[in-house]
Amino acid sequence: YPWYRRLFYGQAGKTEVKAVQDIKSMTPEELRAYLKELGQPDFRAKQIFRWLHKPVTSFDEMSNLPKKLRFQLAQECFLSVPQVERKQVSVLDGTIKYLWRLEDGNCIETVLMRYQHGNTVCVSCQVGCNMGCVFCASTRGGKVRDLKASEILDQVLFTQLDSGEAVSNIVMMGIGEPLDNFEQVLRFLTLVNHPDGIHIGMRHISLSTCGLIEKIDKLAGLGLQLTLSVSLHAPDDETRSRLMPVNRAVGVDRLMETCRRYFETTGRRISYEYAMVDGVNDSDRQADLLAALLKGQPGHVNLIPLNHVAESPLKPSKRIRQFQQRLESHGVTATVRRKLGGDIDASCGQLRRKHLQEREKTQSGKDTIP
Ligand code: SAH
Repeated sequence: YPWYRRLFYGQAGKTEVKAVQDIKSMTPEELRAYLKELGQPDFRAKQIFRWLHKPVTSFDEMSNLPKKLRFQLAQECFLSVPQVERKQVSVLDGTIKYLWRLEDGNCIETVLMRYQHGNTVCVSCQVGCNMGCVFCASTRGGKVRDLKASEILDQVLFTQLDSGEAVSNIVMMGIGEPLDNFEQVLRFLTLVNHPDGIHIGMRHISLSTCGLIEKIDKLAGLGLQLTLSVSLHAPDDETRSRLMPVNRAVGVDRLMETCRRYFETTGRRISYEYAMVDGVNDSDRQADLLAALLKGQPGHVNLIPLNHVAESPLKPSKRIRQFQQRLESHGVTATVRRKLGGDIDASCGQLRRKHLQEREKTQSGKDTIP
């Protein structure tokens, strides 16, 4: 079977009950091949691809398809439709945060942010995360599972549908580590970038990673024109390993070499994320070290005011402007990220965590509790 045939087994995995196609994760080529198997002409694949990206909640809505085909698709295919479990709208800036419930009961978050240059949607790529960064709420319970491409795409489609707002930019900065779910994330990028779908240009997409170096090299080889953000958060191994366990195996020097290669291969300058933590990574010495790391490489530093996560001893830094000025005195461009949705738990993984904790008190859900 090709990858997209998910098999459901009966008791104890003995009998094959039904083959279910994850149709929304299919590329146009795969959809054509699948419809050929059903004896359908190529143009049907294009029609269906367009419907899937509109989005629809049942095959019956695909009004230009013959009834028999709609019935056959409903028998064979799974159509992912996330449900709004919670929705919070910021009174400060109109940022919307969605907590979606997936078919298996797991929940993930999506944030819609409004900027002057258009609407940006921040999507999740995993249920939970295995990377263990100490300041991040998403990783507290570990990773439950990877999302399928269809489930990442749904976050864009259903955010547009529910909010009535068109999305022009996508950032992969929600729950999860995109390069730890490489195949499905790439598939998502292909789908969302396709002219017959919602057609968001690669230059309007950012992908953020904690720095998985082999995967950064692999991504560089594909030469996509997206913006790569690297979560650096500290210029020295001691501090970075303390904040981000992933650093222990790699180290700052090898990460920076990889970033340099990425720039040389793709011609795209990297954006470095730096969450400012009081007394941990915000000293003048660390600003000097950071500037030295970036020497000879056209990068950009994005200073993020730390979002306080419940039960964490880490506090937001009060030295962001001084740190920024120090970087600029070395000729490094640095911006301070504007804080949106401060009143609605809009930071990575916060709403899911709160939801799980509240549900833990009232009932036992399917999702794991961090
Ligand atoms: N796993 C990816 C993408 C998800 S997080 C990554 O590590 O890059 C998106 C960004 O938000 C990352 O830079 C992450 O380090 C940062 N972040 C996570 N928790 C934060 C918090 N409490 N305050 C500020 N930034 C945070």
